[in-house]
Amino acid sequence: MSKMETKCVQAGYDPGNGAPRVVPVVQSTTYKYSSVEEVGDLFDLKADGYFYTRLANPTCAALEEKMAALEGGVGALYTSSGQAASLFSILNIASAGDRIVSSVNIYGGTFNLFNVTLRKLGIDVDFVDVNDLARLEKAIVPGTKAVFAETIANPALTVADIEAIAAVAHRHGVPLIVDNTFATPALCRPIEWGADIVVHSTSKYADGHAVALGGIIVDGGTFDWAGNGYTGLSAPDESYHGLSYTETFGKSAYIVKARVQLMRDMGAAPAPMNAFLTNLGLETLHLRMERHSENALKVARFLQTQKLIKTVKYPALEGDEDYERAGKYLGGKGSGVITFEVATRDQAVKFMNALRLAKIVVHVADVRTGVLHPASSTHRQLTDRQLVEAGIGPGTIRLSVGIENVDDIIADLAGALKAAE
Ligand SMILES: *Cc1c(COP(=O)(O)O)cnc(C)c1O
Repeated sequence: MSKMETKCVQAGYDPGNGAPRVVPVVQSTTYKYSSVEEVGDLFDLKADGYFYTRLANPTCAALEEKMAALEGGVGALYTSSGQAASLFSILNIASAGDRIVSSVNIYGGTFNLFNVTLRKLGIDVDFVDVNDLARLEKAIVPGTKAVFAETIANPALTVADIEAIAAVAHRHGVPLIVDNTFATPALCRPIEWGADIVVHSTSKYADGHAVALGGIIVDGGTFDWAGNGYTGLSAPDESYHGLSYTETFGKSAYIVKARVQLMRDMGAAPAPMNAFLTNLGLETLHLRMERHSENALKVARFLQTQKLIKTVKYPALEGDEDYERAGKYLGGKGSGVITFEVATRDQAVKFMNALRLAKIVVHVADVRTGVLHPASSTHRQLTDRQLVEAGIGPGTIRLSVGIENVDDIIADLAGALKAAE
């Protein structure tokens, strides 16, 4: 088995003689067959092959194979966005009347999906601090179908104690789903620590250039669905003439079901062109994550020394409450995102407006340094008091450190801090 860096560059596509060296964009919704029987076998899942791009496409398949190889899974499903990947990861094993346990420290979009939309579908969600293992243990009750956490939480930047969380979940016969968007497989491979399913917004570091939305679900192939009563995976599926996923597909049951049932019915299918662009991004993931982490640590250390700045949150920073977990799970690296706080809203606004190299964007995790002031953008509707309750101060700033020269980044920040004094 080749190493992570080699997989970033080469996994997922092995061209034959005379075939394109680079993964081609297969811009076709449909595929040709020479007999009715061959197409019938595809629809019965008796044969493997492309027939409609909503279900599978060669360019998307190359990306899926690469991500599965990088995460150490048995298969993957590429989706149109990270939101679709998170939604499918739950709907594949939970339905009305079931519950899931989720970390409180998750991406705002995922929080809304769980707290509003899943509840409307009849799936109840219990939010806990998943690193508090006693609280986690209590939250898992009969009917709980999954535990969900983020490796590095966006934007709280806490690091999940994956090995310990997985042990608690498994003791209760429940799988652990980990959103590995901020860490990426270059820093952490959650399946190696006991996670069963990994999801990503590939719109962030996987793409890395802010050009293509996407999401992916990777199946570790580790969880015993039939043995733990997940009948949606083991009982006959009438829409496939009574086929049982666990009996027919074994270790790949979860990811096959996500594709042939959820993607078939809900259709959050990605564009082949986005798979092509995301694959280009993945070819340099290992190099980018190294530089993002190196630059961000230097920037965090600089910010820490500035008198205008009250707090700096960065998991790889000495003294951070997640420092030890960053050592264990992220190889001591912290990825590219830093959260810090100046005293007042006014100072934050002056600082933001004085930046030149760092641009104001809502996105994070691409090659260009970007900055966001939650209180005046993503959390604009909240009062200062509500902001504090949400763990966000009026002076909180989220900085996504890019891979430009770090001295230039620091000079830009220093200049803007001076302007905000
Ligand atoms: C952005 C993000 C998502 C949602 O992904 P989209 O591609 O924007 O739909 C999910 N999880 C995390 C951690 C994210 O940062």
